Amino acid sequence: MELYEEIKTMAGVGPKKAHALVRLSVREIGDLLYLFPRTYEDRRNVIQIENLWNEECALVRAQVVLIAKGGGFGRKRNLKLLVQDESGSMEVLFFHSAYLERAFQQGEYYSFFGKAQCKNGKKQMLHPDFEKWTGDESQEKILPVYPLVKGLSQKDLRKWTARVLLQVKRLNEYIPEETLGRNRLCGLHYALQNIHYPDDPQKVKEARFRFVFEELFLLQTGLLMMKNRVNSSENGISFSAKADMKDFTDSFPYPLTGAQKRVLEEIRADMESPKVMNRLVQGDVGSGKTAVAAAALYKAARSGYQAVLMAPTEILARQHFTGLSEQFAPFGLRTGFLSGSLPAKEKRLTLEQLAKGEIDVLVGTHAVIQEDVVFARLGLVITDEQHRFGVKQRGILTEKGENPDVLVMTATPIPRTLAMTLYGDLDISIIDEMPPGRQQIITRAVNASGRESAYQFILRQVQEGRQAYIVAPLIEESMELSARSAQGVYEELTAKFPDQRSALLHGAMKQKDKDRIMEEFYEGKTSILVSTVVIEVGINVPNATVILIENAERFGLAQLHQLRGRVGRGKEQSYCILITEGQTEVAKKRAEIMKQSNDGFVIAEKDLELRGPGEFFGMRQHGVPELRIADLVKHVKILQKVKAEAEIILSEDPTLSEKKNELLRQKIEKTFENVENPML
Ligand code: ADP
Ligand code: MG
Repeated sequence: MELYEEIKTMAGVGPKKAHALVRLSVREIGDLLYLFPRTYEDRRNVIQIENLWNEECALVRAQVVLIAKGGGFGRKRNLKLLVQDESGSMEVLFFHSAYLERAFQQGEYYSFFGKAQCKNGKKQMLHPDFEKWTGDESQEKILPVYPLVKGLSQKDLRKWTARVLLQVKRLNEYIPEETLGRNRLCGLHYALQNIHYPDDPQKVKEARFRFVFEELFLLQTGLLMMKNRVNSSENGISFSAKADMKDFTDSFPYPLTGAQKRVLEEIRADMESPKVMNRLVQGDVGSGKTAVAAAALYKAARSGYQAVLMAPTEILARQHFTGLSEQFAPFGLRTGFLSGSLPAKEKRLTLEQLAKGEIDVLVGTHAVIQEDVVFARLGLVITDEQHRFGVKQRGILTEKGENPDVLVMTATPIPRTLAMTLYGDLDISIIDEMPPGRQQIITRAVNASGRESAYQFILRQVQEGRQAYIVAPLIEESMELSARSAQGVYEELTAKFPDQRSALLHGAMKQKDKDRIMEEFYEGKTSILVSTVVIEVGINVPNATVILIENAERFGLAQLHQLRGRVGRGKEQSYCILITEGQTEVAKKRAEIMKQSNDGFVIAEKDLELRGPGEFFGMRQHGVPELRIADLVKHVKILQKVKAEAEIILSEDPTLSEKKNELLRQKIEKTFENVENPML
């Protein structure tokens, strides 16, 4: 057994269990070591039966005096034991567990761990954990309680972690000795042993402290290294100061907002300096990021370089291409388009023109990073809605030029607190102002019984000449998932409103059909677009004023906000209707947040509060590895220590290339392996 081998290669772990383990982020055998217990069961304190409290989780050690087969038939028979210690007796019950009969022998001693029920002087335990008592002291221990997912049992996990811990000596310490010393951290082997199978609660504390520190330390050092790497390269392009973006932005049908101007100024300064630009532009949905990107593309092209804009979906890429080619044409700039579904002949032509420098601005999907795409003089790379791209993809694109400037645009807000803590003074521009005249989108949340009137509302909007989106989580009806599907909604809709022109759009359709459907919706030929979340990012149809989202409970708040951003893009009052199945407390709170706020940052912060930072979903999306044990809010004090430590280490060895830091560097690389950090 090797720690780096896939978990399914471990004895006793079949495909089903391996699958379940992945949900706990256990992919390799060694990952089991980092599956930290949620809490512990203290089995050292044996409680006398007489002293059991109702509802108390306790360990009882007692002799089986009677084994009674209870009611029920066959394998489903119940099993009832009468057990006793010096103080008294209690019943132990197992329902439908005839197979356990053979596990017990009359007269023998067993440990029972479970929740006690004490009523009318009668004591009972239902389905306790049990173990034969051998008189061996080592059975009196503190046992880990792991987080569970369907298909795994506590017993499984305990067995496996215990087994893997036997291999732990093969792991080498990756935190440098000085760091351990300066911060009074315990060593790796000790920490692993004691976070899983401590022999005393004090040791759990030591172990937890080490891992909280470690997790934040790897994170902080990794982020700092990236930042240093980005900021240190001075051999980038200095774009021409003569290529004035104002010539271009003056051609817009609207004046730029103050925020757009400020961000463009930051971009201008970066582009004109020899430093390689690596800037993240954050702006809420509808804040006008495209205009900012367009101006940057213009400046690059005007300076004699080629520029590329990459979008995560074909629909969005096409939309950008259509808009930009119109805007650039009057300035004599040539725009090209590239996507996977382009006919071979067209593609070849575009590639030729690109290599010859006959295209100034290339717009496309991830097709622009294919090997055969060669630029003559690539100077600027912009990715729109960056969280849809992996680190690698962005890297490949940058390599197609010589240190091109990079701009990353996203509507996914990194909550302010998180950004401050983690990124410090990294290059982030924020468009924190909406174009004027935007109306607040009115949001309503209803359950299924409100669906009918919601549809009638849509009908009235459409009759007034507006357009509408209806979004459902699934493409087609599914046996397993009880959620609405775009296909189903579309069928209902066409039956209900046969006079309205509606269309269906989803990811599994042919590109040609998707293009046609989007085209017709842009042109207003269709009024209602029923779709999956393929319309989530970037789509801009200002005449659309209402979006109805089915099974809103299945979407994250940030995603709901993105979807809602498809409307409210024109002058008309716009509406968002959330239909939620099942009304849990959390669901109600989520709906309330969506109703009260139209601000992506506020929503992200509230989301953080609601879920609790420990399980802040989508950390990965924010370019930060998921935290397993540390908590950015609870552990701020430790984070301060960590920051100081990371700075010391990196000031001595900025790239961690010294021998003594080699294992640390490897560990950091592994930590960030699958993370999409916008600044990487
Ligand atoms: P996002 O930031 O979500 O990508 P877009 O760039 O798609 O937003 O812009 C949303 C809409 O706002 C577009 O219709 C765009 O033309 C318009 N817009 C952008 N900037 C301004 C502005 N300064 N004044 C008025 N409208 C603007
Ligand atoms: Mg956009």
